[in-house]
Amino acid sequence: MPSFNPPLRVLMGPGPSDVHPRVLAAMARPTIGHLDPAFQALMEDMKDMLRYAFRTKNRLTMPASGPGSVGMETCFVNLVEPGDTVIVCQNGVFGGRMKENVERCGATAVMVIDDFGKTVDLDKVKKAIADNPKAKVLAFVHAETSTGARADAETLCKMAQAAGMLTIVDAVTSLGGIPLEVDAWGIDAIYSGSQKCLSCTPGLSPISFSARAEQVIKSRNRKVQSWFMDMSLIMNYWEAQGGARTYHHTAPINSLYGLHESLVMLKEEGLEAAWARHKKNHMALRDGLVAMGLEMLVAEKDRLPQLNAIKIPAGVDEAAARKRLLTDYNLEIGAGLGALAGKVWRIGLMGASSTPNHVTLCLAALEGTLAAAGAKINRGVAQDAARKVLFAS
Ligand SMILES: *Cc1c(COP(=O)(O)O)cnc(C)c1O
Repeated sequence: MPSFNPPLRVLMGPGPSDVHPRVLAAMARPTIGHLDPAFQALMEDMKDMLRYAFRTKNRLTMPASGPGSVGMETCFVNLVEPGDTVIVCQNGVFGGRMKENVERCGATAVMVIDDFGKTVDLDKVKKAIADNPKAKVLAFVHAETSTGARADAETLCKMAQAAGMLTIVDAVTSLGGIPLEVDAWGIDAIYSGSQKCLSCTPGLSPISFSARAEQVIKSRNRKVQSWFMDMSLIMNYWEAQGGARTYHHTAPINSLYGLHESLVMLKEEGLEAAWARHKKNHMALRDGLVAMGLEMLVAEKDRLPQLNAIKIPAGVDEAAARKRLLTDYNLEIGAGLGALAGKVWRIGLMGASSTPNHVTLCLAALEGTLAAAGAKINRGVAQDAARKVLFAS
């Protein structure tokens, strides 16, 4: 059996995004023990850098060992107990997963539903809060990767606080890509993912809990149903209480080297500069797509720069076109999910995949592929439209 050698792809789907060679190189460094003093120093640096990325002073800030879904579940199982009520906003696939988590905790999910592609309707949330004064938590997705819509996280958090409710926020696709202010917005529990705008390999989920959330965890009526995700146990490894850390599970050492490196790179670039880069590359891609005659799914004011959903032109076999992008250009873009399956493509401009090169390649590849598929598009104009944004003057 030969060794596995993956093809070199350009990753412009909904994640994973391209992993920078510096991150891959970091992951190839020698494995050491998860309680080695040198590794413990990396853990402390990691927590500090995550606080920087999340814009928080929360003590309880660390990467959960597992993909974004584990971060999601960690937030829910620690804060939600049987009999609780949670208001869940759903305007895409991931809000639906929040409902699953709430119900599996033995709690009741009160759903606030909006169409796929729309932002979370604040008036509906206001009504749900008024109708459910005993609700404990408001949960929503900041950047809905299944549609490319952004929620007004700041306003949603303020509404929850005014009602004395906690917030659980999905920031898997927002962290590092768009403004996110954990402390200023008063977010109580947040989870992200390593493989989207942080451009590390998949499998780690940065999480953070406010002091208020920490109190709620400490005063639970019963044990967290999940042993693996119980923060009261995980804390004993990630917090050096009196200098002694104790084994919980073997940390994914080399993956953590990778996340450490991607956070070092984020700090070098600067968080605001990273947000600005995502925005600029998005505007270039959008202008190119629109010049070609393609239509964006999400209204301009609610659009995420890092996830661009475009409507598939009439008559195009979407799966065949995506396959050609992969075989002809080594370019991966995403299909539609859930209610949008077969209707949109999702083009990611996340982390190391948010560069002028990615924009330029994607526009050229789409133009060639759509023309070959017989779609009616405007040819020879997309690159100039993108150039005007990318290389002004
Ligand atoms: C990708 C994603 C997840 C799940 O993350 P995994 O790493 O695939 O488990 C959750 N929420 C959102 C918004 C996502 O984009």
